[in-house]
Amino acid sequence: MGVPEGDTIHTAARRIGGALLGAQIEAIETPQPRHARDRWPERLAGRTVRSVDAHGKHLFIRFDGDLTLHSHLRMTGAWGVHRRGERWRRSPRRAWLVIRTPEYEVVEFDGPVLELMTDSRTRFDRRLAQLGPDILGAELDERAFLRRLREDDGTRGIGDALLDQRNVAGIGNMWKSEGCFLALLDPWRSVGDVSDDEALRVVRVLRSLMQESVERGGRRPEPVHVFERAGLPCRRCETPVRARGQGDDNRTTYWCPACQL
Ligand SMILES: [Zn+2]
Repeated sequence: MGVPEGDTIHTAARRIGGALLGAQIEAIETPQPRHARDRWPERLAGRTVRSVDAHGKHLFIRFDGDLTLHSHLRMTGAWGVHRRGERWRRSPRRAWLVIRTPEYEVVEFDGPVLELMTDSRTRFDRRLAQLGPDILGAELDERAFLRRLREDDGTRGIGDALLDQRNVAGIGNMWKSEGCFLALLDPWRSVGDVSDDEALRVVRVLRSLMQESVERGGRRPEPVHVFERAGLPCRRCETPVRARGQGDDNRTTYWCPACQL
């Protein structure tokens, strides 16, 4: 299903919650040497999972007694929720974390960010505290999004600004391109030149599509309009879709030069 974005993580949070909430945790394993000295199995032994939630692309498994596992999959990671005895979605050698209940094995594969922290640290951790409103939050705080966008560098392209998790959390490279297309907004326009209404059009259409994706268990709505369609005809006007790296991280932006103004 491609690189994880907010809808991927919210879908995973639901599935992990379904497997762990109210269940007896039989075992917690951290197979990678990097975590060998962390003693998570001992620190988490006997605790139950109180909640599993997501904010943007960050996922939190909260245990009784003020301990929380925080994960971010970046580009490569994946969560698997498997029934006991079922084949895992990736090789066991790539597992970083395994949480076992009588019925399920919840596994994080290839996890670049995986840490155990107290609940209070999840509130005060600088990276987490800087996150903008979650595109998939119970309510989307549009005023907070606009305030953060207006505080951003006005010369930055709107496509790039939408990827900045401090402006709004959860949008990744695919949804960025798709959202700008569906809002008929040129991703290269500078933030200072984009009206509040135009910026809101993007996050509203994305919120709705990403909610649909979560409702469908992570299956994204079809069709894909511009993402990874460079050179192919725009589905709306048949002009070839263009692609170019954008922003400091040079993430590829896809857009229709005729439809998006
Ligand atoms: Zn077009």
